[in-house]
Amino acid sequence: MSDVNKAAFFNQERQQKVMKWVNEKWKENKCECCGSNQWILVDKLIVPPIYDNGIQLGGPIMPFVVIGCATCGNAKFLSAMITGIMDGVG
Ligand SMILES: [Zn+2]
Repeated sequence: MSDVNKAAFFNQERQQKVMKWVNEKWKENKCECCGSNQWILVDKLIVPPIYDNGIQLGGPIMPFVVIGCATCGNAKFLSAMITGIMDGVG
């Protein structure tokens, strides 16, 4: 059963916090592949599996915010922890 009625963690407030952080931190916002400066924030956090002599399931996670170039799809994975949106989350 899905949690379609559950409020999204990466809600509009957190998305706005990420974009504020990006605008403060990114000194150069041109895509290094195509030169575009149009970026799209993915509205879900990504959690890749951790590999250490095999894929580890059920352990610690490392969530990422993904921002992709709207022209060529070049994607940036930013640590959700560093952006500050995980502050206060257990
Ligand atoms: Zn690009």
